[in-house]
Amino acid sequence: MPKRAFISKFVFLLLFFMADLLLAAVMIAQSKPSPGVAEKTIVIHAATLIDGASNQPRHNVLIVVKGNRIESVSEGGNPPAGATVINFGSAVTVLPGLIDTHTHIFLQGEDPKVESYDDQLLKHPSSYRAARATVSVRRALEQGFTTLRDVETEGAGYGDVGIKEAINNGFIPGPRLFVVTRAISVTGGYPLEGYNPDVVVPKGAQLGDGAVELRKIARQQLDNGADWIKVYMTHRSWADKNGKLVSQPTLTPEEIKAVTDETHNWGYPKRRVACHAYGGIGLHRALDGGCDSIEHGLDLDDSAIAQMVKEGIWYVPTLGVYYEDNAPPDTPEGKRDKARVDAHEVSFKKALKAGVKIAFGTDMGGISWSKPIADEFGRMVGFGMSPMDAIKSATTNAADLLDMKGQLGVIAPGAYADIIAVQGDPLANVEALKNVTFVMKDGAIFKQK
Ligand SMILES: [Zn+2]
Repeated sequence: MPKRAFISKFVFLLLFFMADLLLAAVMIAQSKPSPGVAEKTIVIHAATLIDGASNQPRHNVLIVVKGNRIESVSEGGNPPAGATVINFGSAVTVLPGLIDTHTHIFLQGEDPKVESYDDQLLKHPSSYRAARATVSVRRALEQGFTTLRDVETEGAGYGDVGIKEAINNGFIPGPRLFVVTRAISVTGGYPLEGYNPDVVVPKGAQLGDGAVELRKIARQQLDNGADWIKVYMTHRSWADKNGKLVSQPTLTPEEIKAVTDETHNWGYPKRRVACHAYGGIGLHRALDGGCDSIEHGLDLDDSAIAQMVKEGIWYVPTLGVYYEDNAPPDTPEGKRDKARVDAHEVSFKKALKAGVKIAFGTDMGGISWSKPIADEFGRMVGFGMSPMDAIKSATTNAADLLDMKGQLGVIAPGAYADIIAVQGDPLANVEALKNVTFVMKDGAIFKQK
């Protein structure tokens, strides 16, 4: 190599290296605030505040944010000297960052005719799915969802652990994530299904059989970063001759108990188990087997509701997803889809009346991430929940489900500074929760219109 070329290459490499260092420094500066930045004080003046805990909105409130925490919340008063003051005016409502407790950031619920579930697992490299997951989390944050419990990667392995790490280290914007990694079901208990048995196809969950094997799978997932464990307690569902929903149970009582026993004793913070269950035997095995939250719960009978109230088991109904892409009504699939929504409405109303603890969850990913996450609020209110209770289901109640009460989903001293603002009054019209104009997460402003 001629000397001149060598020198210019050396200079080029040096410059490249320096540019890299500069970029790294910028990213570190973004992710890890220096002590000076951490002490920065921001004051938000809220003409109307729904704080997540109170039953009534509060007015003319000053929220003092120092670093990544809320320092004080007071009616009236003056901002401390030197603070940056944000005043939204009277047409805006301030709330805690919202929490969706049932999402799939690795799933893209577009038109199944364009890209099916099978296509997503079979055709895309993991890098493609991870790239799209970064878009999912950004969309959630833009819509004021500052925390997600993401309940499995649908064949994308431990990808959620990596996305969570990238968010926490400041490399990509996104909500706080509580992740479940791969999820658990039994042989024959989860797609992909229906392929030539001689061809090995990926599965959307980690499948196993027997208490020993399922305990081992739970251990693997917990060891690799699962904050929660997700179990499929029912799989196929269909409408019987009378149009009533029937669901196939999956894990045996011994199998689910092995999973919950292992998970509950894993360590600190306490790990818990989210159980997908539609109804029937599988749902009752979930309740008797120590599941902490029932996902979907389409068909809750009276004894299930009574047990959930008595034992404080959470209900994450995910109403909206069952109105998406339903099959024509004269087909077996269409009859099943109708049986699902018919039962779901009754179950939700009964659970609400009985006082079951309800947390907001959507199944985003099953729904396209291009659609508003806040659509679910309208469904809940449409079935009789008050707008304030619907908001609480996505703030204090969701935080309680996550064992983060007082830290998340509330605007109170000591809580993380996850604060949003929406145009209008969501108590008068819950659709206002779709008009998010301001998002602060962990004390940093992500969006300000
Ligand atoms: Zn789901």
